[in-house]
Amino acid sequence: MKYFTRTKEELFEEFQTKISGLTEDDVASRRKKYGENKFIEKEKDGLIKIFFDQFKDSLVIILLIAAAISFFSGNKESSFVIVLVVILNSLLGAFQTVKAQKSLDSLKKMSSPKCKVIREHEQLEIDSTELVPGDIIIIEAGDIVPADGRIIENFSLLVNENSLTGESNSIEKTDAVLEYEDSALGDQINMVFSGSLVNYGRAKVLVTNTGMNTQLGKIAGLLDQTEENITPLQKALDSFGKKLTLGIVILCLFIFAIYVYHGNTILESLLLAVALAVAAIPESLSPIITIVLSLETEKLSKENAIVKELKSIEALGSISVICSDKTGTLTQNKMTVKKIFINEKLDDEYSLKFNNKIDNLLLKSFILCTDATDTIGDPTETALIHLSQKYDLSFRDIRKDNKRLSEIPFDSDRKLMTVLYDTEDNKKIVFTKGAFDSLVTRFKYYTDENGNILPISDTFIKEIEKYNHELAEEGLRVLTFAYKYIDESKNLTTDDENDYIFHALVGMIDPPREESKLAVQECIRGGIKPVMITGDHKITARTIAKNIGIYKEGDKVLEGIELEKMSDEELEKSVEQISVYARVSPEHKIRIVSAWQKRGKICAMTGDGVNDAPALKRANIGIAMGITGTEVSKNAASMILADDNFSTIVKAIITGRNVYRNIKNSIGFLLSGNTAAILAVLYSSLANLPVIFSPVQLLFINLLTDSLPSIAVGVEPKNEDILDEKPRDPNEAILTNKFSTKLLIEGVLIAIFIIIAFYIGLKESALKGSTMAFATLCLARLFHGINYRGVRNVFAISFFKNKFSIIAFAIGFVLLNLVLLSPQMFNIFGTTALEPMNFIQIYVLSIVPTIIIQTYKTIAYR
Ligand code: ATP
Repeated sequence: MKYFTRTKEELFEEFQTKISGLTEDDVASRRKKYGENKFIEKEKDGLIKIFFDQFKDSLVIILLIAAAISFFSGNKESSFVIVLVVILNSLLGAFQTVKAQKSLDSLKKMSSPKCKVIREHEQLEIDSTELVPGDIIIIEAGDIVPADGRIIENFSLLVNENSLTGESNSIEKTDAVLEYEDSALGDQINMVFSGSLVNYGRAKVLVTNTGMNTQLGKIAGLLDQTEENITPLQKALDSFGKKLTLGIVILCLFIFAIYVYHGNTILESLLLAVALAVAAIPESLSPIITIVLSLETEKLSKENAIVKELKSIEALGSISVICSDKTGTLTQNKMTVKKIFINEKLDDEYSLKFNNKIDNLLLKSFILCTDATDTIGDPTETALIHLSQKYDLSFRDIRKDNKRLSEIPFDSDRKLMTVLYDTEDNKKIVFTKGAFDSLVTRFKYYTDENGNILPISDTFIKEIEKYNHELAEEGLRVLTFAYKYIDESKNLTTDDENDYIFHALVGMIDPPREESKLAVQECIRGGIKPVMITGDHKITARTIAKNIGIYKEGDKVLEGIELEKMSDEELEKSVEQISVYARVSPEHKIRIVSAWQKRGKICAMTGDGVNDAPALKRANIGIAMGITGTEVSKNAASMILADDNFSTIVKAIITGRNVYRNIKNSIGFLLSGNTAAILAVLYSSLANLPVIFSPVQLLFINLLTDSLPSIAVGVEPKNEDILDEKPRDPNEAILTNKFSTKLLIEGVLIAIFIIIAFYIGLKESALKGSTMAFATLCLARLFHGINYRGVRNVFAISFFKNKFSIIAFAIGFVLLNLVLLSPQMFNIFGTTALEPMNFIQIYVLSIVPTIIIQTYKTIAYR
């Protein structure tokens, strides 16, 4: 289909569509015919495959070997229990994997691309998947082209097609018909292709192909969407796990030798050694991290922070600088015009007069030099439309009556927008609006209070500079308006943005978000530096930053031009003093991020525009705006704010810190408990005492009563006190010397009480000794779960807030008592009946370590 050689009329005919768009019926029938506008994904692994994948795990293999050894040594019950545990564990693992996948999928859906389409005369925003051939779409700077299509109306469109053609320069597009039948993709300059990035300009496009029929769909074939998503923490733990396994294998060989030396049979000794391995390997470690991360990611998305990869949650916890856009993130992005300086007078927004030609022209400029409507579009422009409505003007009618001949769209580098229209008296008029500093050098004339056009003087420039300053001091965003007449229509270029007549200054207010102040305070408390970055004027920016608490006396406010003059080294030196950047362009953001990173800081950066993508990628956490952000920025970011709100970033950081703390606590809980078991086994074998734990007992503890509390520790709700900590050094190892020592001490402590219980039981029989030791180990570890909830003692945490912890304890307690009280279990677990007195002894011995640890925690926290 050579759509590029056909006229628009031919294409409208062929696709049975109109410039006013398809009807809902058309869309429905085409959706049936062509399907959704998306690539078909490779089918994901099913539950059964995932279930069997669990058996590749080396631990499961060790367990199965243990079952076989048990079976051949005549202990059929315990081999049955082992196999059952393996199956249960694998099922659990499979369900967890599927659940984590599902939550990632739903996150993906939340960040799925949107596009602007015209249907039945109305402009709508829809999911890109809903497009069908024949749809008329609007694409503009920052969009990712959602389908292949032919350009119907073009306003300076520049598109980067790198992903398709490998050409890294942007391509200037046209809406003209092309003649060469065999133009290559890169030469089809009146077409756009799915997946390309719109760098500049705007266009109306007739969709010709969707989904797998697009050029990208054809290349991509079946996309394999299952990317590996391993976080640094998981990687670190995997390698730690491998070292640990090796250590444990050596330890087990040692224990095996001792048992054989003490006269046990090889089979028995082997079984005991394998059991010890099972007890020592913290098998729930890796799944716990996945569970905790995916649970928290899901929770975060409900709080409006959509994290695209699990690993970002971890990185969030180490953030020490947040560079945030002002408009819409710290402020509400609800602009309202408050003041107008026109005809040499500053007055409020209602002071324009219809009978004044210049005032009238300004109202026209509000409507014609904007693209927004009263509900959709850039709030700066919406504010102008709202004001025109207050003057009873209909932007729809006025736009219908005036045809735009040419335009240079707004971009945040130039900070200007220019349009060309016909006037009534056969002249053409150019309207421009933009930042004062971008326009001030381009004025040649001004109009006095009587409407006479006069050459501009230095005195007049000084005067408007004064008014601009005055409006900015009040925290108002100032838009400057200018216009000029030209004789004939032409295609505007930036060279035409000169020789203007100064028109007006329009000051609009954008109040800070209510939450911003508190969020900034929380940042500072948490050792995180908030930095404001804005395209706005220096004084406007400083006033607002001061209001919110970001700017303090003595801080620096740096302007884009000043930043350009600084070398990277100079910037790096002074970056910590600068809390506000004004009049910056997106390119400056990347230098700001780099400067912070060179100072060793972990930096989050927000962005919404097309040119923000490099800075978002460069930042440790790139954050895009869900509401106002361009598709390109969302694509480049690792987190998307569904509510564009600064305070959501702070919430996410708190969650990130909490997640890390919880995971670390889970690890601590598992390793200290395992250490206790290992030490007890080691002691009993070295002291030539009877076998302290049977393999099934250790399995029971490790896989049932141990994994539930460790998950519970992992999902401990966040606590305010986490903000009193400084940001975590991302290179810090989990097992610092301090942490390892703590684990070891706790392990020794619990082991001592297990051995006491063992001796008490041994006075009667070996079986009773083992039963008492097993019960004490199991219960002590259940209590120990409480020690790992938060940094403070049990009375200072909100004990009942973590229901899972209480449930985990209850389940473990009930299961243990089932084993201890039902004679049917005795054979399987190698246990025996206990007297009431023994129960009391077990309860006391298992709670004492926790009491000691809690006392220590209370003292240490003080
Ligand atoms: P922030 O960086 O705080 O989010 P911003 O991204 O809104 O601010 P820009 O959009 O780059 O900043 O705006 C910078 C300046 O450009 C504004 O101060 C204003 O003077 C001018 N400006 C903003 N929007 C428009 C527009 N639609 N048309 C013309 N000029 C504009």
